[in-house]
Amino acid sequence: MKTIIFRLMIVVLLFGALMWGNESGKQISILCYHRFAPQVNDAMTVKTSEFSKQLAWLKENGYTVIPLEMAVQYLKGEIDIIPDKPVVITVDDGHKSVYFEMSPLVKQYHIPVTLFIYPSVISHTKYAMTWEQLRELEATGLFRVESHTYWHPNFKKEKKRLSPTMYEQFVTVQLGKSKRILEEKTGHEIKYLAWAFGIYDQELESKAEQEGYRAAFTIERRHADRGDRVMSIPRYMIVDQYTLKAFQNIVEKNQ
Ligand SMILES: [Zn+2]
Repeated sequence: MKTIIFRLMIVVLLFGALMWGNESGKQISILCYHRFAPQVNDAMTVKTSEFSKQLAWLKENGYTVIPLEMAVQYLKGEIDIIPDKPVVITVDDGHKSVYFEMSPLVKQYHIPVTLFIYPSVISHTKYAMTWEQLRELEATGLFRVESHTYWHPNFKKEKKRLSPTMYEQFVTVQLGKSKRILEEKTGHEIKYLAWAFGIYDQELESKAEQEGYRAAFTIERRHADRGDRVMSIPRYMIVDQYTLKAFQNIVEKNQ
């Protein structure tokens, strides 16, 4: 009798541990960069040498940079196994420094990077990359282009400015046109969206779903886990002011 009770207890404990472990699963730090430069000009620019130190630290400390796709599949419960200490690297806005400053390090460390692009500026403005450069980056197999709306609007302001019908049309264009153009230019499906200025609400979340996005990303400062809504997955914005220690604290969740 004692053995049976003992065995039952073991089963209950194991089951409990399994359920507890699966509740929200692993936590993933998804990082969001903007620009890189040898010398820093503004807060959103990270010094190339700092970025290099961050990548070295991640590697030396057993972190694995995983593709955004893998993170989303895990967060949605479509896959259960991902590397320990997972980190995702994303870059918003398509600044040309991604091509000139960041990409040599990405190639050196051979890590996957997602670029959230708003197509209206590509090949149009001095500060943005060209379609050719984006194609070249994707051809390395390390970079993947996803959507950051069509022209990076402030949805909060537009909602106040436009009538409800006009606003709805506006949102449809911003989410849908971006996806279509990027699909045409890259030749692959565009599955993910980063909210411009991190602005979103439930209405926008359902719009993004309707337009065919599988997940969308904010800039709320916390790790992502299975408890997050798939249309508002948090990311940490990495800015120039962070020392390597501050970066470590973010990734290690000690902040
Ligand atoms: Zn942006």
